[in-house]
Amino acid sequence: MTTAKTAIIEAHGGPEQFRIVDQQIGEPGPGEIRIRHKAIGLNFIDVYQRAGLYPMTLPHALGMEAAGIIEAVGDGVTHLKVGDRAAYAATPPGAYTEARVMPATQVCPLPDAISFDEGAAMMLKGLTTQYLFRRTTPIAKGDTVLFHAAAGGVGLIACQWAKSEGITLIGTAGTDEKCQLALDHGATHCINYRTEDWVARVKELTGGKGVDVVMDAVGADTFEGSLDSLRPLGFMISFGNASGPVPPFSVGLLAQKGSLKITRPTLFTHIADHATCQKMARDLFEKVEVGTVKLRIDQRFPLADVAEAHRALEARKTTGSTILTL
Ligand code: NDP
Repeated sequence: MTTAKTAIIEAHGGPEQFRIVDQQIGEPGPGEIRIRHKAIGLNFIDVYQRAGLYPMTLPHALGMEAAGIIEAVGDGVTHLKVGDRAAYAATPPGAYTEARVMPATQVCPLPDAISFDEGAAMMLKGLTTQYLFRRTTPIAKGDTVLFHAAAGGVGLIACQWAKSEGITLIGTAGTDEKCQLALDHGATHCINYRTEDWVARVKELTGGKGVDVVMDAVGADTFEGSLDSLRPLGFMISFGNASGPVPPFSVGLLAQKGSLKITRPTLFTHIADHATCQKMARDLFEKVEVGTVKLRIDQRFPLADVAEAHRALEARKTTGSTILTL
């Protein structure tokens, strides 16, 4: 039995809830591995869990993404062995730690060409991008997608993914500098949605037609405008709540706005099946290995400063990915 420095919360609330404790870690049971982390990814879902929007039993360690080295393997695990480099986006939360025992299903071998920092910066955000573009609704070359918060962690990966597939991505972001970053990463257009009438601008950019698909994880502030940005029969993917949850609405609204379709997906449904998760990861790794998707890590915080990392993410001060270092 060894111990690992771990960031836990004992009550939902603000970033001041974090406490670093020495957590005991044992041996992996059947279907589990023990991994020693080299870097940990920060995600907006961690904020929802800390704040209580996504409630959990407490006390609990947070964090859903990391990269490191496999230290021990339980019975029945065949895709990983001791000494392997690995990375994951996975449930249950608990990645804010030096080392942990966890189910092996969603842990993936990390190719040598991808660093631990990149692995920690891309698994949750990159697999999300993979399912948004490949597994949610058919999106073909030449289609137009509206993507909110395009300079964020998922956003900059989505900009590059769209470009590599010949998809026109209209981004939105909260400052002109963030818009420039999205454009530099492959967005075809980017609208500052804090200063411009972005719905009108989307209509203008699409010749009055509207976009084929909206990918909206901003939530409350953008939901209705996103529906108004779609063409008739367009597809709305509401996948997050950075500005607060989408308020309840009448399904009749979808008829009024042009027979729209809507889904509210989560990555964890898509990666629940082991084989599917590994296949999705290989698709993502290929994009990174050939260089069509480059990971941009704009913020690094020591694990002990996780509260500062959360403050920066919530205050919209970050761009690209953020990692916690060990
Ligand atoms: P980001 O790095 O994109 O950070 C969130 C961004 O949202 C901010 O930088 C900000 O960009 C924008 N934003 C708009 N309004 C607010 C607000 N009121 N408060 C804070 N931020 C705001 O985070 P991630 O890359 O980690 O995640 C992006 C989104 O995708 C999140 O909503 C997340 O929950 C969602 N997600 C959903 C998944 C799923 O499967 N359902 C999986 C992964 C992520 P700006 O200043 O440009 O407006």
